[in-house]
Amino acid sequence: MSTDSTQKVAIVTGASRGIGKAIAEKLAKDGFLAALVARDEEKLSTVQKEIEAGGGVACTHVCDLAQRGAFGALIEQIFEEYGRIDVLVNNAGMTRDGLMLRMSDEDFDEVINVNLRSVFEGCRVAVRPMMRGRFGRIINITSVSGISGNAGQANYASSKAGLIGLTKTIAKEFGSKGITSNAIAPGFIETDMTAELGEEIRKGVEKTVPLRRYGQPEEIASAVSFLASDGGGYITGQVLVIDGGLTC
Ligand code: NAP
Repeated sequence: MSTDSTQKVAIVTGASRGIGKAIAEKLAKDGFLAALVARDEEKLSTVQKEIEAGGGVACTHVCDLAQRGAFGALIEQIFEEYGRIDVLVNNAGMTRDGLMLRMSDEDFDEVINVNLRSVFEGCRVAVRPMMRGRFGRIINITSVSGISGNAGQANYASSKAGLIGLTKTIAKEFGSKGITSNAIAPGFIETDMTAELGEEIRKGVEKTVPLRRYGQPEEIASAVSFLASDGGGYITGQVLVIDGGLTC
């Protein structure tokens, strides 16, 4: 892997598949060293190879975000290795859907832990090198569920709403240090996560969404790319909804 300290470093969680994979590929095309984070080593190295085949630079890091302290330690390790952290895309996420009356404490805690607590932990570590470099872009992938709520997703919607609060707080605390913090709220995007919902729900959604289709992971990646670019430099504390018009 050829790297130099002038190459900007972008960390992308959940980069083994779906939206995170598309984000990592796009940021690598944009010239970032893409640090790919997830649990599945094999899938991560497939993504790395695809990025390298396209002329990009990527490294892989296996990390279970559910483990307290693991993500913060990993960010420190990436900083020690590459000397800078420019962009942090907190994309990894999980669901454990169920109606609230039947939702267990464990299912609530697990989703909050992975989707929200780990992001707080990662951001708290990443802002230090970003402040030193007087440049940073934090982009958190939330969901329209975090804005509107969603039956069957008390845990997930709470975690995603929490991410919006965290995003705006970081914008206010670190704006003066050259760090922007924004959230992207996708609607229904074609990935493993929505494949779980099945064909019937898909047909129903496609009837409701003004654009009459699920979105593609690349359509989230292009927005992340813009927010990470120089052109996105005056945008902070915002939530960009990308949902084909579902919630408009
Ligand atoms: P996905 O296909 O299920 O992929 C989830 C990614 O997160 C995988 O790379 C997975 O990697 C990683 N991940 C999950 N738990 C992890 C853990 N404990 N530690 C480390 N990595 C973990 O999901 P997606 O649809 O691409 O969603 C990406 C993000 O967009 C999520 O935050 C999701 O909530 C949000 N979102 C998606 C949609 C949608 O319609 N798809 C809509 C709104 C918001 P490993 O399994 O390899 O660890």
